[in-house]
Amino acid sequence: YTEPVITIDGPSGAGKGTVSTLLAKKLGWHFLDSGAIYRVLAVASLHHQIPAEDEAGLLPLASGLDVNFETTEHGVRVILEGEDVSDTIRTEEVGATASKIASLPSIREALLRRQRGFKQAPGLVADGRDMGTVVFPEAQVKIFLTASAEERADRRFNQLKASGHDVNMLRLLTDIKARDERDANRTIAPLVPAKDALVLDSTELNIEQVLEKIEMFIEEKL
Ligand code: C5P
Repeated sequence: YTEPVITIDGPSGAGKGTVSTLLAKKLGWHFLDSGAIYRVLAVASLHHQIPAEDEAGLLPLASGLDVNFETTEHGVRVILEGEDVSDTIRTEEVGATASKIASLPSIREALLRRQRGFKQAPGLVADGRDMGTVVFPEAQVKIFLTASAEERADRRFNQLKASGHDVNMLRLLTDIKARDERDANRTIAPLVPAKDALVLDSTELNIEQVLEKIEMFIEEKL
């Protein structure tokens, strides 16, 4: 027997975070935000002033990463070395650093076991880029959630504006395309759908419609 896993992979801004959080809550399953682990590592590297190119210097930081996810009534708080970094990890600077660090093979390897530790009864919903291809290839249900770069930039723009940030749409779109390019073309664990994944384009769909399609697919598979 192995605990059931649902993987939700795809580019940033496709709605993975919202969809997988809702799904995990509905099922009463555990939730892994793997991107948050790369982001926390990025914050740790900035704290310790280790450049994103220094693979050997980053490795001990990745292996010993002291990160905890605490569920509170305000959502999940991300704790690095006892400090709440939930807001810090969401900045564009941290996202860009995380994406650079994520292209280093030994770093990805060092984070594997920690991610697999989230697979516990009664089940796991795992959100990331390589959940279905590398971390949980045995997962029973694999989703690849995507949307056009323009739509994703648009969603991010509205999110940032709603939280009072001053944003430049063109800059956002350029950043998203650059990040896509890097994530899709890296040699290790590139962003590609697993062979057995349901590829879902959310450009024209709202969250409810995406959830509905995923739930139909789960019913077929589980
Ligand atoms: O999903 P999120 O935007 O939080 O991820 C931040 C960065 O971490 C991504 O741009 C990607 O490069 C990297 N990442 C990854 N593999 C994962 C999750 C995230 O390489 N499973």
